[in-house]
Amino acid sequence: MHVQKQRLWERLMALADIGRQPEGGVTRLAFTPEWRRAKEVVAGFMREAGLEVREDAVGNLIGRWPGRRPELPVVLTGSHLDSVFHGGNFDGPLGVLAAVEALQTLREHGVETDHPVEVVSFTDEEGARFRFGMTGSRGVAGTLTAEELEHKDANGVSIAEAMRAYGLPPERFAEAARAKGSVKAYVELHIEQGRVLEQAGLAVGVVTGMAGPLWLTFTIEGEAGHAGATPMGLRHDALVGAAAVIQAIETECRRHPHTVGTVGQLQVHPGGVNIIPGRVTFTLDLRDVDEAERDRAEAAIVDAARAVCEERGLRLTVETLQRIPPVPCAEAIQEIIEDALGQLGLPAMRLVSGAGHDGMQLRDLCPVGMIFARSKDGISHDPAEYTSPEDCAAAADVLMHTLVRLASASVVV
Ligand SMILES: [Zn+2]
Repeated sequence: MHVQKQRLWERLMALADIGRQPEGGVTRLAFTPEWRRAKEVVAGFMREAGLEVREDAVGNLIGRWPGRRPELPVVLTGSHLDSVFHGGNFDGPLGVLAAVEALQTLREHGVETDHPVEVVSFTDEEGARFRFGMTGSRGVAGTLTAEELEHKDANGVSIAEAMRAYGLPPERFAEAARAKGSVKAYVELHIEQGRVLEQAGLAVGVVTGMAGPLWLTFTIEGEAGHAGATPMGLRHDALVGAAAVIQAIETECRRHPHTVGTVGQLQVHPGGVNIIPGRVTFTLDLRDVDEAERDRAEAAIVDAARAVCEERGLRLTVETLQRIPPVPCAEAIQEIIEDALGQLGLPAMRLVSGAGHDGMQLRDLCPVGMIFARSKDGISHDPAEYTSPEDCAAAADVLMHTLVRLASASVVV
């Protein structure tokens, strides 16, 4: 039994048109018209697949397959439909559409499951708009707080305000939470976003765990001044200090085998050609599959930043935007995915996820598993992101066989 490769591919390409940017890539930020449109289109696919469609209190789109025993805990699968700025066509949509395709194929073959299965498109996994991600999965996990809904986008619009404008009363966000014991497992198919599978010559892999992202904001304050009238020796240039800190971040991360650190946003104030920068704000995304290693790197970076600022007479403020611990995938689900690969005649390779995914938020709710599909050249968060139709279908097949096992009452995870 195989999924329909062509149908899956056509749906992926249909989504790729929504939020497509003239200069390349797709931009579908949470609670925007593009995101709504993507959800409407996917809701249509869900109905074609015979699923019952609903939206929960934080905007997660859910397609439910009731199973023979709808009272049993649900098997959750899915991913997200929001993107980063100028993102690709596979990060997120593949996991949602492959899950729809898997259930549609099962239905077409008359296969029934014991447990209900729900395909979910989680709200704002990427966090590109509000610099705060995984809102939907936090909502399902019951860990989302009203305070977190106050994160604002570049225009000063908070998540709560964006929800209200979208048609979701933000004060009801807690209704999205699932009760402990109501979810049997969560399994997500996602593109690898790295080169490990490609280098191994494999289409599909089994994920052992996810590195936890730590997001910090550094604010360095010095003294603005006239670029012509202030001698070099009398300056407290915030940007030169920031440059030294960013250099220290790279040096520190390179000392650890799995640690990766990225400064992706930087704002210079007042931002004039002829004005010495008085204040600089930049973000740091720091990750490792080993939490202790990550926290060691963080401490070393903050120490280095303090030293730089002290030497240059600058003020330093470090703020934590989010701190997510690395999450191991459930061993039982890894074994089920390996069995599915075996059934399909595919070799099973285990690998870690350097990227964070919604499953991380569900770690205390249910066992979590992930399947990776090969990414061409490891490129992601970029218009060049690509996974071939064959690899998408192979990964969807693995997901389908995994779901059948997980949704069997005799399988314990
Ligand atoms: Zn993703």
